[in-house]
Amino acid sequence: MRAVTVVPGISGSLRVDEVPEPDPALGSVLVEALAVGICGTDAEIADGGYGWPPPGRDRLILGHESLGRVVDPGPSGFKVGEHVVGIVRRPDPAPCPSCAVGEWDMCSNGGYTERGIKAVDGFMAEGWRIEPEYAVRVDPQLGVLGVLLERTTVVAKAWEHIAAIGRRTFWDPQTVLVVGAGPIGLLGALGGVQAGADVHVLDRVESGPKPALVQQLGATYHTGAIGDLGFRPDIVLECTGVIDLVQQAVACVSPGGIVCLTGVGPPDAAGEPVAALATKAVLGNLVVFGSVNANRRHYYRAARALAAADRGWLEQLITRRVRLKDAQAGLQREPEDIKVIVDMVQP
Ligand SMILES: [Zn+2]
Repeated sequence: MRAVTVVPGISGSLRVDEVPEPDPALGSVLVEALAVGICGTDAEIADGGYGWPPPGRDRLILGHESLGRVVDPGPSGFKVGEHVVGIVRRPDPAPCPSCAVGEWDMCSNGGYTERGIKAVDGFMAEGWRIEPEYAVRVDPQLGVLGVLLERTTVVAKAWEHIAAIGRRTFWDPQTVLVVGAGPIGLLGALGGVQAGADVHVLDRVESGPKPALVQQLGATYHTGAIGDLGFRPDIVLECTGVIDLVQQAVACVSPGGIVCLTGVGPPDAAGEPVAALATKAVLGNLVVFGSVNANRRHYYRAARALAAADRGWLEQLITRRVRLKDAQAGLQREPEDIKVIVDMVQP
């Protein structure tokens, strides 16, 4: 079968390979791939900046945003033809206390593995195997949109943690600002709207599909500085990692507010802003927290959020589809890209 493989650490090593059928050790459920989403982490791995191959090998099968159809469920209880998404992370073998209770997204010793990223093959292959307990059913009515599930888990977790942190005190949040209208930002905004909040989304672009996508949600689109919005949001979901925007978010969030950082941006040249950020956080009783990855609970929540979303809206998030043989082109960002997927069904 064909798969997209890379040598982690080596830029330009990506290629479409002929690889053996998936190793039964990877799980009893055999899945035919339907689609794989591409994100910045994949591009970083392809550039040699991140990623680890499986033990004893040079090459890693790329891809962690999966969608597939069960071909052989084995003794799992899945049915042939069901649509599934693979959970990305696996607990560390120790395990740490978080992994021991199934919260591998909070792994404290870094010994976890991740499909398509860290020491286990990913999903950008014509077929893949998965352990039944790491396969999540998605509504087959979603069709290819099920490939958005993994990104949705990231915001499902972020919203869960925001709610948990909010319970530290009396808190009645009304306004949400999402910074960055990429897939995470737009799916985050969807979550805010589904929760009944007054959602605002800020991005730098003034054209392309993003403003309309935000409006269609019933949210408000903004460009420019956070300080010019004319209100102080109770919650900021920061999805860019751009330090200037992180600073603006902390400066402008309402007292007692919560800033959730989901983006990792380029390292900042000047260290000075970090001190100002810390001061703001203390004086504002702010919680500024980071959030990454997701556990099984978040996958179930995300599957529900996607199933409840407007299909036509979700479809617009997928702005480009490439074939497996053109995966390299899919990794090159184009100006109006929101989510690029590899269509694994087309030859
Ligand atoms: Zn752990």
